[in-house]
Amino acid sequence: MAEQFKTPMLDELEKGPWPSFISGFKRLRDDHPDKRINETANSLLGQLEHSYETRKGYWKGGTVSVFGYGSGIIPRFSEVADTFVASKEFHTVRVQPPAGNHYTTDMLRTLCDSWEKYGSGLITFHGQTGNIMFIGVDTENTQKFFDEINEYGWDLGGAGPCVRTGMSCMGAARCEMSCADEQQIHLRLMNNFTDDVHRPALPYKFKFKVSGCGNDCQNAIERSDMAILGTWRDDMKVNQTEVKNYINKKSRQYVIDNVTTRCPTNALTLNDDDTLTVDNKNCVRCMHCLNVMNKALSPGDDKGVTICIGGKRTLKIGDLMGTVVIPFKKLETEEDYESLVEFAEDIIDFWAENGLEHERTGEMIERIGIANFLDAIGVEVDPNMINHPRQSSYVRLDEWDAEAQKWFERKKAA
Ligand code: SF4
Ligand code: SF4
Repeated sequence: MAEQFKTPMLDELEKGPWPSFISGFKRLRDDHPDKRINETANSLLGQLEHSYETRKGYWKGGTVSVFGYGSGIIPRFSEVADTFVASKEFHTVRVQPPAGNHYTTDMLRTLCDSWEKYGSGLITFHGQTGNIMFIGVDTENTQKFFDEINEYGWDLGGAGPCVRTGMSCMGAARCEMSCADEQQIHLRLMNNFTDDVHRPALPYKFKFKVSGCGNDCQNAIERSDMAILGTWRDDMKVNQTEVKNYINKKSRQYVIDNVTTRCPTNALTLNDDDTLTVDNKNCVRCMHCLNVMNKALSPGDDKGVTICIGGKRTLKIGDLMGTVVIPFKKLETEEDYESLVEFAEDIIDFWAENGLEHERTGEMIERIGIANFLDAIGVEVDPNMINHPRQSSYVRLDEWDAEAQKWFERKKAA
């Protein structure tokens, strides 16, 4: 290997009890059997140290893609390539993970082998968008790496103004709280929008995330433009024997302090005979009591999903949580799934036509108003549509009686 760059500032990041990404880079530099990877890691460490010394970043963008795709590769060219030659091109390849992040060891090993053949050996599982991030490949090998992994079934994720890589929790496959088939929802949506993932033609990014229950392990409500969250609408299931077992183990006071008094809507009553009563009409499905007493309490049988639109992180008008647009939707039959995909199409079509450049769906809704947005996507106003439980129904109160009357009539007709 050429001269090893000194890294006194980076070495500081290896101190302390935490795993250090610098130690990972050094392992690639010192221990990997492939000389090309050793040199790339050395060069990368050298450039990073230089950045820390001068307090400047030296990566610039450009255009790198693979045939037939407009997105999926994040180009990185070094501005100090003369000194740090081996990492002068250090592009990132975004690859879509399987729904629910269900991998086999064999899959992971095969992916790693391909990456070590063409790239730097550095991988992030997973980036903030949900992709597997293969970090560090030159322009020539980008196509070769993609061709190889595509051959055995992997596809690029989104980057730029397009539908982004979807995410779903492991859900029904392994989690007792699941109220939906997360993988099915994920697969149907992403398969339908494949073209919009690969060819950026939208005002900005659009993300789908699917969580099987209100615990929202995917952070869908605050991180995705269309969040699909599992829920139930009948009564929560209560196993009174397990309630008693729990009380015997933890005490009545513990249940009062940690379960009943922490219910946000006071929907739980611990009775004198050590049984638990749930006021299901007032339960907002926050999941707290089910998480604490997970043997005693479980979701009901009438399961479906809630759909929230417009969540996003910072930029411009700041963080937005998704707004409930469909309070409850059954997802059982082929038609149910088709209508979910059509609903997503309606939203994306409307936003593509009406969103300003670099404007997320949530920002567009803020600008044009929720009433106009609902009208455009053909959804009737419903008092169950809320921003915060029990606080801010966005049905205007000055027309409340009329709206409530319409809602009751729809309910009667249904
Ligand atoms: Fe389980 Fe709910 Fe988390 Fe999905 S979101 S993994 S169903 S707890
Ligand atoms: Fe209360 Fe939440 Fe339990 Fe419902 S799920 S009863 S709102 S703690």
